[in-house]
Amino acid sequence: MTSGRSLLLIADIGGYTAYMGSHRMRLAHAEVNTGRLLEKVIRAVPDFDLIEIEGDAAFLARHADTVDESMVAQTLKAAVAMHRAFHLERQYVATNLCPCNGCTQANNLKLKFVVHVGEVATQTIRRRRKLVGIDVIQVHRMLKNPVDVPEYVLFSEEFYRTADAPLPGPVHEVSQDLEGIGPSRGYFVDVADLPAAQTPLPDPTLLGRVGRTLAVAASGVPYMLGRRRRTAYEQTRHAS
Ligand SMILES: [Zn+2]
Repeated sequence: MTSGRSLLLIADIGGYTAYMGSHRMRLAHAEVNTGRLLEKVIRAVPDFDLIEIEGDAAFLARHADTVDESMVAQTLKAAVAMHRAFHLERQYVATNLCPCNGCTQANNLKLKFVVHVGEVATQTIRRRRKLVGIDVIQVHRMLKNPVDVPEYVLFSEEFYRTADAPLPGPVHEVSQDLEGIGPSRGYFVDVADLPAAQTPLPDPTLLGRVGRTLAVAASGVPYMLGRRRRTAYEQTRHAS
């Protein structure tokens, strides 16, 4: 087990519970789509290591032996890159040719971020890196917060205070009572206020839309075929 200072970031898909719904086919497509969205988000920031996919969120980290004054600005830039990758893919998912709710309603999904810096211990179990420590708990607790805009980057006070230059958008303060940690202050930026996030996305290409349609088709396209395709589970049941 080694320990060191790390920058901890969670990119979390908002609106996920309502989106997942309960219908099985919608669920299958919703799962494929959220998987694709998270993959694009992770790929947008090669400087970060993926620690774990946690349902609708990606937990990322980066060594931060020296947290310099530009790190907050750099992290904000990384968040904008992830946000853009997410929305570009979301647009493709929502305009793919499948009419199910898991695809058409992807447009309601949002992306938000929480960021903290702290001392973490690294455990490698079966080649998988795992981060442990109170700061890992803290960054996760930060997801439950009173921020009332759909897409934001929320910094812990410890991290935010390292910035010495003003950020490219208005910063708002929030107070949180983090379970098991106590009262804590945070600072957030509304992604919609960031100039870099306002560049319009290119229109989806037909080829890209067809590609996304094929990606979900692997898990069944009942509405398009006019009948339900049997799942592997059902096929086994019929066979027995
Ligand atoms: Zn679908």
